[in-house]
Amino acid sequence: MATDCLFRDDSYLKSCDARVVALTEQGGLVLDRTVFYATSGGQPGDTGTLTTSAGVTVPIATAVYTDAAKSEIAHVPAPGSPALKVGDTVTAAVDWDKRYARMRMHTALHLLSAVLPYAVTGGSVGETESRLDFDIPEAGLDKDDITTKVNAMIGGNAAVSSRWISDAELEANPGLVKTMSVKPPMGTGRVRLIEIAGLDLQPCGGTHVRTTEEIGKVQVTQIEKKGKQNRRVRLALV
Ligand SMILES: [Zn+2]
Repeated sequence: MATDCLFRDDSYLKSCDARVVALTEQGGLVLDRTVFYATSGGQPGDTGTLTTSAGVTVPIATAVYTDAAKSEIAHVPAPGSPALKVGDTVTAAVDWDKRYARMRMHTALHLLSAVLPYAVTGGSVGETESRLDFDIPEAGLDKDDITTKVNAMIGGNAAVSSRWISDAELEANPGLVKTMSVKPPMGTGRVRLIEIAGLDLQPCGGTHVRTTEEIGKVQVTQIEKKGKQNRRVRLALV
């Protein structure tokens, strides 16, 4: 059953009321709606809690998609958690501080990909440090130079917005796809675009802050060579 993914339209929702609609074979809890981001595109699934009206709290270790089309989310209880059953109503709440840090970092990675306009071959979003892998033929990247450029974009306080386009529109504009390893989910008829006004536009299902100034200052901490053409660039919140 498709989950209503509230975080896609409002990444600032910290909690919502929901109903347990299914249990997966692995013990995951499927809700009719959720604020939990599910592991995807290098961003980890949210942690948090599901709390029943009777006051029973189930700690959630992560959230994952159960299907390739990314339509249904299973909330994975921490080991030893109390059991819930189909039909239970809960309040689903994410660990907001962790999620917000990931929103800041994730948005910063979009800016990094705008400063380094090369194909992205991988990436990972953490709370304090994140990375993108680029297909770059030559070395010679300068940490301080990239840091200065990303912070200048942050300081410009550009608006971050999302909108949906059809699969056909995306296929007609293949240049929108920067990430080679993480193709945007196609086949549902529409794709979510994230625009950072004047700076970046790409398909992305992740959670982002509303304006670049919310990211705060960042620093490129390391540039590693990973194979002949691959450079791994690490970025930290400072
Ligand atoms: Zn994104």
